[in-house]
Amino acid sequence: MRYIKISKENTYKFLERLKEVGTLHAPMKISEKFYDFCEVDDVKEVAFEYNRTIRPPRRFFYPEEEVMFKFDTARVEMYENTPRDERVILFGVHNCDIVGLRIMDSVFMDEQPDPYYQKRRKNGIIIGLSCLPDEYCFCNVRRIEFVDAGFDLFFHELPDGYLVRVGTVTGHKLVDPHPELFEEITKEDTKNLEEFEAKKASMWTVKGNWDDLRYFLEMRMDHEMYDRESDKCLGCGNCTLTCPTCRCHTYRDIPSIDGRTGERMKYWDSCQFRSHGLVAGPHNFRPTKKSRFFNRYQCKNAYCPDTTTAYCVGCGRCTYFCPAEINFKKNLMEIGGYTEAI
Ligand code: SF4
Ligand code: SF4
Repeated sequence: MRYIKISKENTYKFLERLKEVGTLHAPMKISEKFYDFCEVDDVKEVAFEYNRTIRPPRRFFYPEEEVMFKFDTARVEMYENTPRDERVILFGVHNCDIVGLRIMDSVFMDEQPDPYYQKRRKNGIIIGLSCLPDEYCFCNVRRIEFVDAGFDLFFHELPDGYLVRVGTVTGHKLVDPHPELFEEITKEDTKNLEEFEAKKASMWTVKGNWDDLRYFLEMRMDHEMYDRESDKCLGCGNCTLTCPTCRCHTYRDIPSIDGRTGERMKYWDSCQFRSHGLVAGPHNFRPTKKSRFFNRYQCKNAYCPDTTTAYCVGCGRCTYFCPAEINFKKNLMEIGGYTEAI
């Protein structure tokens, strides 16, 4: 891996040049409390310090809704709707979201290859950005607070710029044409990087290794937490729709008014919706709110062999955006017996 440095001023110039390579998206403040990945027009609007975006980056490769194909019943034909050949650059992706995308890859590129996802993902460029945790974060117990794969470039904050790790050939192709913007790193820079990581390590609010939490969850399926917390749950699905690793979806055929033509649509779904478990019969294999609530805790803590971590990356979104103030991290700690770090 190659390590180089860029000043804060040159970072803005670099972002400007990235816009010539593809459509650049980066985190921006969209309201008092919320950030989101937005298309960059003015590079000065990019938020370099943020905790989490309301929508996870998976939506760039696995959109909230999309037309799979159009059909014509009179002609008995269907017309596939392939994604556009568009280069999408995501700048400012945190460690948790980088691993979130690797989990999505393991599902949609390996387990159940999805040509729509594959095409978009192959056209995607991921540029990581270092961050400091708040009280909602727990990616440290998922062992992903410092990623070494899944990005083309990674920007680490320094007092006077960024130390940039070049992770792929694509990353080299992004920086090589602009040697005047980058410089070699010094001992002072590596010392500053170590100090940043040490500061980060001192800020975690939970400690321990949650890789084996799935066994506690299996052994304590009748834990009182499920009754107490599912009772508060509104079934709104915010926790899953904001999660960087949720991938449940559904399909619907939308006919035209004369019924001869139409579209097959794919939409994000949520295991927290009653309709998600409804099958023919009508039978619902998750008929109660508690059964749906319980399912999410089991699903998110299952082990993902490809990333050697759980399917939850500890981003804290499901707690931060829960209108019922249900605290996923604290509920897991109650079951797993882990304690506060500070
Ligand atoms: S965001 Fe909160 S209230 Fe809404 S479904 Fe998830 S746990 Fe329930
Ligand atoms: S389960 Fe919650 S903390 Fe874990 S990745 Fe999903 S939104 Fe983030």
